[in-house]
This record gives sequence, C-alpha cells and structure tokens, in this order.
Amino acid sequence: MAKGRYVKRREGMPPAAILALCAVALAAVIFAGSALVRAHRNKPVDTPPDPAMSNPADPGTPTPVDPTKPPVETDDVVARRASLLEEAASLYERYFYDEAIALLEQAGELKNTETAALLQDVRQAKDALVKYDSAQYYHIFFHSLIVDPSLAFDGDYQATGYDQYMTTVSEFKAMLPLLEEEGYILYDITQLAERADGKTRMKEIWLPEGKKPLVISIDDVNYYDYMKGDGFADRLDVDAEGNVVTIVNGEATYDGDVMPILDAYVKEHPAFSWQGAKGVVAITGYAGAFGYRITDLPDYDEQTQKWMLEKTEAVAKALRTSGWQIACHSYTHNQYWNKKTITMEQEQYDIGRWLGEIAPYVGDTPIFISPFGVFFEADDARFRYLVDHGFWIYCPVDSRMPAYCKNDFFIQGRINLDGLTMKHYPERISRFFFDPAKVLDPARPK
Ligand SMILES: [Zn+2]
Repeated sequence: MAKGRYVKRREGMPPAAILALCAVALAAVIFAGSALVRAHRNKPVDTPPDPAMSNPADPGTPTPVDPTKPPVETDDVVARRASLLEEAASLYERYFYDEAIALLEQAGELKNTETAALLQDVRQAKDALVKYDSAQYYHIFFHSLIVDPSLAFDGDYQATGYDQYMTTVSEFKAMLPLLEEEGYILYDITQLAERADGKTRMKEIWLPEGKKPLVISIDDVNYYDYMKGDGFADRLDVDAEGNVVTIVNGEATYDGDVMPILDAYVKEHPAFSWQGAKGVVAITGYAGAFGYRITDLPDYDEQTQKWMLEKTEAVAKALRTSGWQIACHSYTHNQYWNKKTITMEQEQYDIGRWLGEIAPYVGDTPIFISPFGVFFEADDARFRYLVDHGFWIYCPVDSRMPAYCKNDFFIQGRINLDGLTMKHYPERISRFFFDPAKVLDPARPK
C-alpha cells in the first residue's frame, strides 16, 4: 500500500534531476524577466507586442517560481527528505503509526507537501483502525518443513509419519498468499493477553477493518537426529546481515524452514505482519536447540562446545530481533506427557532441565507449547506447576482454536496444517483459511 505510493512518487525523478530542472527553470525565468524589462524599455511605441514575451501562460515560457519560498533546495535537504519519507512510509506500512507520525511531525526543515500528505494518510489510517471484537482467534502450527520430498517420502519406515505430521516447503509457501488474501495478519501471541496483579485478561486489538490476528508456531525446531538424510534442514544459523538462515546440505539457504521463508515473505509483504510480528519457535531440550546439541556437551571437544553454545545464542537473538518468540515444548517430549501419566517428579525433572539448560541460551519465555498438544484442567497440579514456573501462555492442540484468559493464565488452541489435517480433515482448514487441495504437494504419497 503505502510503499508503492510514496516511493514511486519519489522514483519518478531522481533528486539530482529535479534540482537540475529547478536551476534551469530559475535561470530561464531570470533570463525571460530581464529580456521582458529590456524589451519593454527599448520597445518602440508603435511596435506590436511580441506574443512570446507578453504571455506568461505560453507553453514555451517556464512557470514562475514563488518568491516567498526558497527556489532551490540543496542536494542534502532533498536527500534527507527522501530518506525520511522512505523511513516513515516503511513504519506506516508495518503499522507503526505513532512512530511514523512522530517522525513526520518532527521533520523540521524537511517538511513539504509530500511529508504533509503522508502524515495525513498515516493519521487517517490510524483513525480508521477497528477494535477486534470477535471471540474467534487463530493459531496454526507446523513442524520443520520438508525441503526435499523425495527423501522424506522415500517409502522408509518414517515416510508415513512425515506424510501425516509434516508440511512441505512448497505447501507452506503456497499458504502464505492465501492467508493474506483472507485478511489474516501475523500477531504477537504475547500481545493477545496480559497479566497483572496475578490476573490475566485479553488485550484490546486494533486492526485495519477486516483483518484477523493470526499466530503461527513451529514445534520441535531441534532438527533431531532421526530426520538426518530425510530431506530436512540440519540446523539454523545467522547470515552476515543478521537474517536467520537454514543450513541444508552444508549450505545456507533462505527457504529451508518456516522461519526464513516467513521472514522473506514479510519483507516483501510488510502489511501481512502487525508491527513486525512473526511467530513462535518451540523447542525441546533433549537434543539441544535449533540443531545444536548443547545438552550433550561432553560428547564434543571444547571448541565445538563453545561454537554450539554461541550459535544457539546467536540464532535465538536473531529470531527475537526479527519478531519471533521462543517457546518451551518440554525438555523430554516423553510419552508420559502424551499419556498424561507424568508425575510431579518427572515434571520437575523435565521443566527443570529446560529452564536450566535451554533457557539460559535462548532466553526466558512465558509460552508453553505442550508436547503432543496435551491439555490439562486448570486445577491439575501439573498444569499449575507450569504456570507457577512462568509459563502463563499455554498452547494445546485444538482445531477450533479457542482463546481465553482464566485466573492467571492464557490458553490458545492451535490447529496443525499438516498432511493429516489437509488430507483427512480438510474442512477444518477450509472453514477458516483456504481449501487445502490448492496447496497439497503432489510429491506426497497417494
Ligand atoms: Zn512436538
């Protein structure tokens, strides 16, 4: 929206060309003016007036400049205004209305009709925001994406599991424009609810009319050993510009998992993300984090240990900087979660290890993405344990995507957009988002 308009207006003519044109126009006016004076002074009484000299509206005559304004701006002013307009337009299209308004209001000598027009547009857009008043919220989730379907669906004993629980890169890429067309806009889960004085409550959400807040999460971003050779990325890393990249077959790529793909998409489609929000990266601990085996340090030499710890911290920092949240997905992902047989002792061990060995490198988080999507009743001591250890945002699996605050916690159910749902329960997706047949990867087993 804004970008095309304001940037294009500037791109019509480079600042240097505008300046040169102004100089030429000014010189022409001065020349024409003095010629007029000379002509008038020397004009014989009976000579008919020269039409080119007497008619200022003549197409051959340059437009007169307003003498109350400085006729020429320096290169510096023109360049600084151009970058100010670009920055303000970028803030505007990412929904940082107040920041864009402040920047334009404080533009000082750079103010002109262009800055005024943009300021007016931003104010109008802000005034046109609508309070989101639906009880329906939206949270979709994935596992690490299949980069090479021929390896994932090669018929080995894991192929069926991948077909059910995973999504391919081509499917995920095809979903994004469909979600955007439906009015979805990425929203930070930590901004859906707030907790104060031991109570939680839903926060007000103000969006452009017709927009719906969407949370995306990715489970098990650990690149487990069992996935090696099956067509997934090996780990996450950070490039020289601070972008999160996937390492696939030893090479840095920008489309090896949800995170770099969504980062790139939002760069191209800033209106798809409310104030830069991306999603939630959920990690376990028994295999380290992001593909680095930091909980098996004794298995590695000292240099590798240091490298893994530094990489984990760098990836977490880069993720958070680009709008991602990080969540605990338990340490063990043990079946005792799935069967809900987990004892308090097991939970203390499990959560204790995540808090002690993962959180110090990826940062504290209030978000718990439950393993196997398990849900506990509010009065279950094992649920209470999680809330009491800081995890007051709890996300089970529930295709209806309920979202509510109760006591001192916030629950948001999630729907899995994987092969299982797309193939066997397509209506669970189509009723909210899109027809999964439109995105289903033909490389999936029939
Ligand atoms: Zn999981």
